[in-house]
Amino acid sequence: MCVFCEIASGRIPAHKIYEDGETAAFLDVNPSAPGHTLVIPKKHYSNIADLPENLVAATFKTAKRVTHMLSKALGTAHFTTGYNMGKLSGQEVDHLHVHVIPRFEGDRGTSIQAVVRNPSAKSLEEMKEEIIKNGS
Ligand code: 5GP
Ligand code: ZN
Repeated sequence: MCVFCEIASGRIPAHKIYEDGETAAFLDVNPSAPGHTLVIPKKHYSNIADLPENLVAATFKTAKRVTHMLSKALGTAHFTTGYNMGKLSGQEVDHLHVHVIPRFEGDRGTSIQAVVRNPSAKSLEEMKEEIIKNGS
């Protein structure tokens, strides 16, 4: 059983700030910022592609709720929120988790789109056609 399944079931401890029947939110053990929180579906799914629609909704509803909690508690309206999907993106724990990272003046962080700079040699029009033709 994976570490986040263990946290969801309460078998191993975590600093939970919210939970309901389907989701849980707890502080990251190695925080990137004060209040760095992970939101998970309690049931094990590796990534969003596998996650049933109702749990997509529940997970992001909880992400919204904890964003509100963190905003009020820590006094910031600025957040970086997202998930790593797959090893190449940096996913280490194979149980979907949404990072909610509060941002503060002078934290020297950057934006999500700055994690990689690897644009295609193809034009945007070619990319669009390729994605619609092969991805639909
Ligand atoms: P990933 O790179 O998979 O998106 O992020 C995994 C995150 O989970 C990391 O930020 C890491 O610090 C956190 N993490 C890993 N193991 C544990 C744990 O046992 N408890 C808590 N609270 N966080 C964990
Ligand atoms: Zn799991």
